[in-house]
Amino acid sequence: MTTAPDAATDTPPNFVREIIVADQQTGKHDGRVVTRFPPEPNGYLHIGHAKSICLNFGSAQEFGGRCHLRFDDTNPATEELEYVQSIQADVRWLGFDWGEHLYFASDYFERLHGHAVELIEAGKAYVCSLSADEIKEYRGNFYKPGTDSPYRNRSVEENLDLFARMRAGEFADGAHVLRAKIDMASSNINMRDPPIYRIKKATHHRTGDKWCIYPMYDFAHSLSDAIEGITHSLCTLEFEDHRPLYDWCVDNVSVPSKPRQIEFAKLNFTYILLSKRRLLQLVQQRVVDGWDDPRMPTLSGMRRRGYTAEAIRGVCERVGVSKHNSTIDISLLEHAVREHLNATSPRVMGVLDPLKLVLTNWPEGQVEWIEAPYFADDASRGARKVPLGRELYIEREDFKEVMVKGWHRLSPGTEVRLRHVGIIKCEEVVKDAAGELALLRCTLDMETRGGSAPGRKVKGTIHWLSAAHALPIEARLYDRLFLKENPGDVPEGGHFIDNMNPQALQVVRGAFVEPSLAGAAPGTRVQFERLAYFCVDPDSSKDLLVVNRTISLRDSWAKEEGKPAGKPAGKG
Ligand code: ATP
Ligand code: MG
Repeated sequence: MTTAPDAATDTPPNFVREIIVADQQTGKHDGRVVTRFPPEPNGYLHIGHAKSICLNFGSAQEFGGRCHLRFDDTNPATEELEYVQSIQADVRWLGFDWGEHLYFASDYFERLHGHAVELIEAGKAYVCSLSADEIKEYRGNFYKPGTDSPYRNRSVEENLDLFARMRAGEFADGAHVLRAKIDMASSNINMRDPPIYRIKKATHHRTGDKWCIYPMYDFAHSLSDAIEGITHSLCTLEFEDHRPLYDWCVDNVSVPSKPRQIEFAKLNFTYILLSKRRLLQLVQQRVVDGWDDPRMPTLSGMRRRGYTAEAIRGVCERVGVSKHNSTIDISLLEHAVREHLNATSPRVMGVLDPLKLVLTNWPEGQVEWIEAPYFADDASRGARKVPLGRELYIEREDFKEVMVKGWHRLSPGTEVRLRHVGIIKCEEVVKDAAGELALLRCTLDMETRGGSAPGRKVKGTIHWLSAAHALPIEARLYDRLFLKENPGDVPEGGHFIDNMNPQALQVVRGAFVEPSLAGAAPGTRVQFERLAYFCVDPDSSKDLLVVNRTISLRDSWAKEEGKPAGKPAGKG
């Protein structure tokens, strides 16, 4: 059974779903739904690809079909095994599974070559010996029809012979190309005898040196779809003008099925750049620390930063599928991440900028392990034990030596609630020899232990750690990578890298977290109460936990355009 969208609910628009529903009603493709996600292994996947993954795998899931993962590996020069592996890991992480349907366009090289020969034999392809520049010139433009290549009327025999010698490696790169013989006067430039095979003497990551001719994208892609029995070939809008060529390829060789190409709008966000070419520049110029740098809009970067697959899938679903390109406000993604982390991240206490505090009425050497729930509003979701001793760390910004109006945290002589403990009063401020704040001496009101303090009006609650038990951490505070809403918008002579946010990463050393996080596995996500969401980084070692700030608790960009978030604001 198919599930048509319910008009009564506010299901986001998805015209692809409507096409599939209609196809199933008319019995097209015998009701089958076979889609594919076809990445070129020339970079890591980014959040834009997530939309294509969700659409392809999601449609197959929804309609009881299947989705293939096919690597479009027809360009040996830019493709690498590392990318093949990272792409598979990212698709899995997003929550999708291709089962046994893992394919490589390179697996079809022999077959695609056969189809090229088939075209030559039918007089529908020829070997052209113009240079690349000449081909471009002969092609004309939008206003000017193309001119036939002088090689267009080579005989079938001559074409077969030249194509065989191209394959045998007799010619240098660029000496000849195989072109489809379509129509040099077509109003669609893609139909003006497009090259379908080129010579490229490069080692391929899978076929090694077996081939020195490689199929061009349009030819390889359409025929790979047809070979695999893809029913709905979903691609982005820039391929709309390629559709006639897609159909031409499928119609003119003997493939087992006829897929339909359907174009949808790309996903794009403000404040990030989604182009593998540009992301590669960031990596190669070492502006970021690799493809999975948590500042990157790659799926591996977002994962490392602590973004969840659920949040990303949710956003892809919410923006819908349409034919109109648009740019989505990045705060929509950030909001989805925050919302999911709020619902799922255990609360713990960490201190980024420690200030020592001594509880003068707490016996030296005494430690009490307090049971503290991970979620304040639902004790059934678990708890951990937090040690309380005489010496504590609190957040430096939770203390102000001079009180100001509206200040509800600690100051000389004022009271504040210590999370999970009770009310303390600041009795004395101790300075070091240089006159710098060294520690606070406070008393704990034992009557207020356990949360009950009838009649006591204390507005502020602060987080803390037992100094003797606190685990040292390195906190990497991440923020948006670019300061500009459209980072690709650069003045003349400028470069998009100039639009980077210099404060997109601030490394905080000398910070601490409660001992419950000892040995936490990379990928563990928590909320540091009152600060932000954090995720344990794989750089962590036995002696030092490294945590990445995934996102602040509130949107610090909402107020001022173009201003990076400062420190996360604590509650007053
Ligand atoms: P980029 O434009 O970032 O270099 P690409 O399109 O060259 O990416 P591919 O590996 O060819 O990268 O993409 C695999 C699939 O993902 C294609 O079907 C492509 O149309 C789709 N895709 C790429 N970018 C987006 C995006 N921003 N939104 C939705 N789908 C996308
Ligand atoms: Mg592409």
